[in-house]
This record gives sequence, structure tokens and C-alpha cells, in this order.
Amino acid sequence: MRRFTGDHLLIATHNQGKLEEMEALLEPFGISVSSAKDHGLPEPEETGTTFVENARIKAHAAAQATGLPALSDDSGIEIDALNGAPGVYTADWAETPGGRDFVMAMRKTHEMLEEKAAAHPRTARFCCTLVLAWPDGHDEVFPGVMEGQIVWPMRGAQGHGYDPIFQPAGYDVTFGEMDRWEKNRISHRAKAVEQLKQILRG
Ligand code: IMP
Repeated sequence: MRRFTGDHLLIATHNQGKLEEMEALLEPFGISVSSAKDHGLPEPEETGTTFVENARIKAHAAAQATGLPALSDDSGIEIDALNGAPGVYTADWAETPGGRDFVMAMRKTHEMLEEKAAAHPRTARFCCTLVLAWPDGHDEVFPGVMEGQIVWPMRGAQGHGYDPIFQPAGYDVTFGEMDRWEKNRISHRAKAVEQLKQILRG
């Protein structure tokens, strides 16, 4: 496994919520971050059908365009009663002509579960795959998963995306009700970062 010995990482995302989470998670390692937006990079088309394929597309595009090591995150929520949907299409479910609308996406998710009369608990998992790509084409892949269930109505205004309808296993609050520090300690992204730490330390 190749080690990362630098002190700055380009985070290949245009998503402010993901950027802020990664910044907080990497800060204890003395690693500062910049975003794809800061470097004026276009958003590559996510044509993959798995988290790892899409994460690779984003990390390599950013590393090639800037000559810097780039870390990408592809993530989403898999809902068992919907056969794993929305999965890699999690962000797409929020698309509207005026931008992403996650309240609409969460409502749509709930309505689909109601239509199916899905049994409770409506088990689901947040998945995160991190890919660190170097400009020479090498990459390392780090997965993380957080099990939980979909709840309704939405609860909490913290976090981003589908946080208000996801209650992690072992907790009676949603990600949307958890403070950032607590979510960052247990989330799918934190677990993937735990894997990433193997190449940051030592
Ligand atoms: P992508 O990885 O940019 O394709 O987007 C994944 C989507 O999954 C995000 O836009 C969010 O809607 C959702 N998502 C991923 N991680 C989280 C999370 O920690 N909380 C809430 N939603 C998330």
C-alpha cells in the first residue's frame, strides 16, 4: 500500500457538506484541504455503477487536472426494501431544475416505502468509498459502512443530504439530530477515514 506523506489534500468534491466533514476528519493529522471548486475543476460525469467506480472517476480526474494527490468520496444510502436504491443514484434523486432538493428526495423515499408497505424497521445503510489518487495514476481505495434505518418524519437540522431520515443502529437520534462531532466519530465516512489513516500514519 502506498503511503501519503504530504500535508495537503485536494478533496475532489463540489459538495460543501462532504468537504467540511473531510476537513474536520483530516485536521487531526495536520492535513489541510482544498476543494475541486477552489481549483475551478468541472464536475466529471459519474458514469460508474458502483461507489468505487464513481470515486475513482472523481479522484483521477482531479489528480490529472491539477498534478496534486486527490481524495474523492462517493457515497449514498442503500435501502433494503427498495432493493438497495437509491445507492449510487442517491444524489440524483434530489435533482431538480433549480438544484438539489433533499427534502423532496427524502419525501420521495418515504413515499416509495409507504407504497410498498415496507416492514419496520426499514433497514438501510450509508456507504462511503474514499479513493486517494496520485497524479501518476496510482490509487488506494477505502470503504466504510454505517448500518441503520429510515425513519419518518424527518428529524433534526444538522448535517446534510438524507441525515434527517437516517437513524444509525444503536442510537435513538437521526444523523440530523446528532452534533457534528458525534456524527463524524461514527459515520460511514469516519469508518472509511479510519481505513485511510493506515496510509497517513507511521
Ligand atoms: P455523491 O457521492 O456525490 O454521488 O453523492 C452522494 C449523496 O449521498 C450525497 O449527495 C448525499 O445526498 C448522500 N449522502 C452521502 N453521505 C451522506 C451523509 O453522511 N449524510 C447524508 N447524506 C449523505
